[in-house]
Amino acid sequence: MTETDPAKETTAYRICPFCEACCGLELTLERGHVKRIRGHQADVFSAGYLCPKGVALKDLHEDPDRLRTPLIKRNSRFVEVSWDEAFAEIERRLPPLIAQHGRDAVALVLGNPIVHKASLLLYASRLGRALATRNIFSASTLDQMPKQLSSGLMFGDWLSVPVPDIERCDFLLVLGANPMVSNGSLWTVPNFRDKAKALRARGGKLVVVDPRRTETARAADQHLFVRPGGDVFLLLGMVQTLFAENLVRLGRLAPHVAGLETLQQSVAGFTPEKVSARCGIPAETIRELARSLATTERAAVYGRIGTCTQDFGTLCSWLVDVLNTLTGHLDAPGGAMFAKAAAFQNNTLGKSGSGKGIVTGRRKSRVSGAPEIFGELPMGCLAEEIETPGEGQVKALISISSNPALSSPHGTRLGAALEQLEFMVSVDIYLNETTRHADVILPGTSPLEDMHYDVAFTQLSHRNHARYSAPVLPRSPGQPDEWQVLLRLLAVIQGKGAGADLKALDDELLAQDLKRTAGPYADQIFNAVAHMCGAERLLEVGLRTGPYGDQFGAKPDGLNLDKLKTTVGGIDLGPLTSRVPEVLRTPSGKIELAPAMLVDDLSRAASDLQREVPELILIGRRQLHSNNSWMHNLPVLAKGAARCTALVNPADASRLGLQDGGKARITQGKRTIEVDVEITDEMMPGVVSLPHGWGHDQPGSRLEIAASNPGANLNQLMDEDRRDPLSGNAVLSGVEVQMEAVARPMEFAEQTQ
Ligand code: SF4
Repeated sequence: MTETDPAKETTAYRICPFCEACCGLELTLERGHVKRIRGHQADVFSAGYLCPKGVALKDLHEDPDRLRTPLIKRNSRFVEVSWDEAFAEIERRLPPLIAQHGRDAVALVLGNPIVHKASLLLYASRLGRALATRNIFSASTLDQMPKQLSSGLMFGDWLSVPVPDIERCDFLLVLGANPMVSNGSLWTVPNFRDKAKALRARGGKLVVVDPRRTETARAADQHLFVRPGGDVFLLLGMVQTLFAENLVRLGRLAPHVAGLETLQQSVAGFTPEKVSARCGIPAETIRELARSLATTERAAVYGRIGTCTQDFGTLCSWLVDVLNTLTGHLDAPGGAMFAKAAAFQNNTLGKSGSGKGIVTGRRKSRVSGAPEIFGELPMGCLAEEIETPGEGQVKALISISSNPALSSPHGTRLGAALEQLEFMVSVDIYLNETTRHADVILPGTSPLEDMHYDVAFTQLSHRNHARYSAPVLPRSPGQPDEWQVLLRLLAVIQGKGAGADLKALDDELLAQDLKRTAGPYADQIFNAVAHMCGAERLLEVGLRTGPYGDQFGAKPDGLNLDKLKTTVGGIDLGPLTSRVPEVLRTPSGKIELAPAMLVDDLSRAASDLQREVPELILIGRRQLHSNNSWMHNLPVLAKGAARCTALVNPADASRLGLQDGGKARITQGKRTIEVDVEITDEMMPGVVSLPHGWGHDQPGSRLEIAASNPGANLNQLMDEDRRDPLSGNAVLSGVEVQMEAVARPMEFAEQTQ
């Protein structure tokens, strides 16, 4: 924090926690309050950029609905209690339940905001290990698990995700993503708008494939409507074209690639003519896309949420990187490259060039037999694991920054299931649609009260960097750090009691970690950081042992936390560099182009090719003023016209008798929601779009502003059993629906006269 006048204004800097772009913010404070937020010009990564959400950090911090005191439910009502009372209640109820039913009787549910808080992210995994339950669920299976799986199978690690090197790229093909609004996802790229403009200004081309003419599509050189769920066929047609027209150029990667022939044989039947009708793109256009990609020296393909949350999510994610590899653009400047983070990145640890790879399906979910993936089970299985009696039935639940009652498919069923639990504890900043079912809620900190380092997003950034944010404001009286909250929960679970010595426990866990990861250096490292604790200590170890680190003195010019803290705006670690073969952790030491699991799944795609296209298909959408379910209570983002509208093409509106600004009913199976209609030709005919994360009209929540404009819950229509079978990811997009107008009261009266 820089003091300009102690009586008046001070300046502080914080990485924005609201989305994956991780912009550096400059906050002006006055007498302990945030007066102004703007982009931090000297930030080495975001250089002053921010979007409208960034300024809402003030609203989040000051939100009167944000929880500041633990709550216990007594006689169906929440009452404020002290931290000790809250933990006494947890200790009274959770350990006996574990003793009687076993650890699998406790589910751990992790939400998306965890990844934006270093404290939570670094200690949630420790809590999960200590709990040792098979029932771990997270937002990953509602979002990006397909990309993590395909990356793991191809490159050997769940987070080895190549990202477009946009500042040197001359042809960028974007599928199912809207970076003009999101600023990247699984691709940290603040100010995409200017970077895309620069790409075009240097003669490059931006092509967007999406069933909606999104904000990104509007700024592109070419936009192609694709039938929802048809991306996999477009991608297969492109890969087939590369082989058929002898356009495959592996270049420098040739000795590092395995499975080329298998891949060629597997895609041979997916000619552009065969896939064209299913994806809605002419065969010649598919060929032209493949040729442009192959013949542009610096080019990349990027696919995101729309390609993940569908029936063929893993196949799509795989084929995106197959295209990058076959055209020589993987790991090449201007193509799709691997970040090299300063800390916590598995693909910079251990022996380089090969590894154990990844495995899935080490166990199955108890009720429907869904395979485990990345240590967790599909979120769609949670309700049935609670509802279904028998050994291993989930009877208690710990949720951390998670709102699956809104974000997972068929949330009403899940909400009813949560009511059946014998005990539920939530760590959350809100009493929301999920935490209302809890028995105890432990409030998290405001992001302004906590230190931060981007553990995950530095691994997905378009440029290498390291930045640290110190706490900006003091915590509420009595409020512990979030890592302390999780550690205290861990102590209760381990039988050490809520009054356990947290420093001693933290030391014990670090010593165990170091024994596993640092071998002969474990004691030396432990002694060097023995005076520290918590997330900061883990960061210190991560930075010093990382690829740019000082190696605890062996490389005196290297990075450590003190050095990082003295920088204003962080440290730029340069553009992405080629990392193959060093980055690979597959057992073969090669890029696996044709993993058996993926090749086998092509038969499912082949049999889907002939599927009749439904009359109306529902897709989701990302909005500039919102990200998932947790920003709808912030005044600066909530003001203005209602945003939870269903976008409908004029031809569909006319066919269905829908009015612009009118109400409509969307039905999927037996479930129905009512929505506001917005008619626009930005939608592909036959496709309707609704944003997700809305539906704040459930009793018992404490979200006053969100409840005043609740919107409709898209996910309520989705089927919890419909999943990409490989990744377990929920299908939240590309689902066939029916839609009909809802008569206004006056119209109804006229009709019945
Ligand atoms: S783009 Fe994302 S990180 Fe940047 S200011 Fe907006 S919400 Fe924050």
